[in-house]
Amino acid sequence: MLEKEVQIAVEKGEMLPLMEEFYTIQGEGYHTGTPAYFIRVGGCDVGCHWCDVKESWNAELHPPTVTDTIVENAAKHAKTIVITGGEPLTWDMNPITTKLKARGMSVHIETSGAYPVTGTWDWFCLSPKKNKLPVDDAYAITNELKVIIHNKHDFLFAEEQAAKTNDNAILFLQPEWSKKEQMTPLIVDYVMNNPKWRISLQTHKYLNIP
Ligand code: SF4
Repeated sequence: MLEKEVQIAVEKGEMLPLMEEFYTIQGEGYHTGTPAYFIRVGGCDVGCHWCDVKESWNAELHPPTVTDTIVENAAKHAKTIVITGGEPLTWDMNPITTKLKARGMSVHIETSGAYPVTGTWDWFCLSPKKNKLPVDDAYAITNELKVIIHNKHDFLFAEEQAAKTNDNAILFLQPEWSKKEQMTPLIVDYVMNNPKWRISLQTHKYLNIP
């Protein structure tokens, strides 16, 4: 394809900058412990200083890949698909989610919610970031709110975000990996005192799997 054609296909969401795709166990949040096929899309300008996938930020480093190819690969492995990033809502998610759902797959997203919601989602995991707050539509459709706790102020941020999120959302606090020794005991105390929250751990990192 010509460079211009690729650019147009990416703008339409018919191609996505694919960083990696892999079949593994969901390590975090509500679906922890269940198998899922992860599609990691490049591109993110939210800029969390503790981000553990900084190599995802520059979309130009990740090859534009036809969504049909991504869907074919996913269909070989799993019924549950998790689209993550980077920030997947940087791109138009309608084409890929339509195709995945047409194949009978359950389609989940992990997003900061910083950009307008596109795509059709069976599970919407919102992980808001202070640098670039979610759009209103994201709070409205959130199934799972997952707030990363890097410092004590993040508990206040978590409550602010929970207040903006729809009442049915399941609420999680997750220690940021590099601060887990300091923050996990605080999260344990916080959840015992505020039982609307649950703890999410990055169990895939303890299991040493992707
Ligand atoms: S939103 Fe996610 S991918 Fe983007 S910088 Fe923050 S943690 Fe990293």
